[in-house]
Amino acid sequence: MSLLVVGSLALDNIETPFGSVTNALGGSATYISTAASYFAKPIRLVGVVGGDFPAGAISFLEGKGVDLEGLQIIKEGKTFHWSGRYHYDLNSRDTLFTELNVFEQFDPKIPERYRKSTCVCLGNIDPVLQRRVLDQIESPWLVVCDTMNYWIEGKNAELRETLRQIHILILNDSEARLLSKEPNLIKAGRAIRAMGPRIVIIKKGEHGALLLADQLVFSAPAYPMENIFDPTGAGDTFAGGFIGWLERTGDISEENLKRAVIYGSTLASFCVEKFSVDGLADLTYLQIQDRFREFRELSRFEEG
Ligand code: AMP
Repeated sequence: MSLLVVGSLALDNIETPFGSVTNALGGSATYISTAASYFAKPIRLVGVVGGDFPAGAISFLEGKGVDLEGLQIIKEGKTFHWSGRYHYDLNSRDTLFTELNVFEQFDPKIPERYRKSTCVCLGNIDPVLQRRVLDQIESPWLVVCDTMNYWIEGKNAELRETLRQIHILILNDSEARLLSKEPNLIKAGRAIRAMGPRIVIIKKGEHGALLLADQLVFSAPAYPMENIFDPTGAGDTFAGGFIGWLERTGDISEENLKRAVIYGSTLASFCVEKFSVDGLADLTYLQIQDRFREFRELSRFEEG
């Protein structure tokens, strides 16, 4: 098994009620790969950065075992730059700016030895680019896709085309409502499944996640966090933990999909405890297992 990740690599400016950072390492592919690195090997990254992308960020990813042959470095260009501000309700944020920079001209080229990747995680980028990646992969076993309101509103028809080619879509509750034009999340999930993906996961911020498949509705609890520092990347980290676990186990039975959702939530809970990728930098397998078990205890109860 092997995992190919495509998405943004970014320098983020983030403001939360607890502090701020500038030019912090971010981007969907960064969070997905870092989270998945705790389960999956090898991870192959496809993306683009400018000459300003710090050498420290490259060595961070390499240190996580991420294969960077698919990373294009445009020396004369600038890295994708995004800025967000959170208020006390950390479930919602304002995007202050999105500078696509080198992403504007990005044409994903999949290195020859990546083409037989079994699992593909299409991070949140232009749905046209997501499809261009898929066109270069030979019959992947599992394709998981993330998206956001920016593309649901801006490239709806292109996104619909991408949805026809994937197995699992991960999106948050407001995005699910926007895409399906349906306020109820169960009905929204059903409507989105009719667009292509067999499985839909709807994230509800600090309220957990819903996994929807054929006859299955699984409601994953949220970890009751006392110290949320920076929610940036939680969604991508969830996706990375989720697909990383599926890659490691090669099993998409209902029970294992539920486990993958809890592993995704576990990794996301570590992510939000610190700025940027710091919360994911040095986890041990034991820490991950302990928190996974805490998740199980959260909603276990006896019949009486
Ligand atoms: P999340 O909090 O999981 O939604 O992801 C946050 C990350 O997404 C940040 O590190 C941003 O750099 C990146 N990001 C924000 N907007 C976009 C966009 N339009 N395309 C690709 N990546 C983005």
